[in-house]
Amino acid sequence: MTPQLVMRSIMTIIMIGLAGLILWRLQINGWGSIVWLASAVLMMVIRSPYAARNKENEITERFAVSKERFLLLLVSVGGTLLPVLHLSTGLLLFANYEAPNWLPVVGILFLVPGFWLFWRSHADLGRNWSVTTELREAHTLVSHGVYKHIQHPMYFAIWLIFLAYPFLIQNWIVGAAGIVSFAILYAVRVPIEEAMMRHEFGIEYEEYSSRTGRLWPQLSK
Ligand code: SAH
Repeated sequence: MTPQLVMRSIMTIIMIGLAGLILWRLQINGWGSIVWLASAVLMMVIRSPYAARNKENEITERFAVSKERFLLLLVSVGGTLLPVLHLSTGLLLFANYEAPNWLPVVGILFLVPGFWLFWRSHADLGRNWSVTTELREAHTLVSHGVYKHIQHPMYFAIWLIFLAYPFLIQNWIVGAAGIVSFAILYAVRVPIEEAMMRHEFGIEYEEYSSRTGRLWPQLSK
């Protein structure tokens, strides 16, 4: 058994244990917590085949490495670790708010288009996708599929998913943590990523970005 396999097995056991605790505390956290758990698992399920496939595809250039490390840590804590800790232990119960039983339905209305876009953006980026700002071998500019009209469909998808959280988990701190951490990532990363794309693809990227919008299509084009 390799050290990686040992680590992966330990992580899997911890994750299953935490998921079990969240299910066990269903009465306390409400049914939205199960939807939250399912959405966290679905994000991993959608992403993992692309992550596994892209391991073979060499990274040729990385940008803003230390900033990226901080951003990933921030979003992992705000978007995953904090909700998991709260839902499995009741850590932040003092910041809970009362909400009608149907409120998670509003969250689901955000999740459905969010997950469709999350899946399609991974499928359309294919071998060009990376978690951070980097270029891969034989990187091409994707401008088809969900990239035809907007430049950041994956970030739009994550916005939709994180905006659903306050409707699923009735806690001020947990609801805000995902949104605030992703807002910071978005604000810091987008200029770096766009500069990287402009540097790599020049006029082709200029033309692409002039006919598309960041998160919303340019209605006049
Ligand atoms: N900002 C995009 C992609 C996020 S993934 C979105 O929200 O959908 C981040 C990586 O995708 C970047 O490091 C870059 O390598 C790659 N990327 C982003 N836009 C791309 C495009 N139009 N074509 C090819 N690769 C792209």
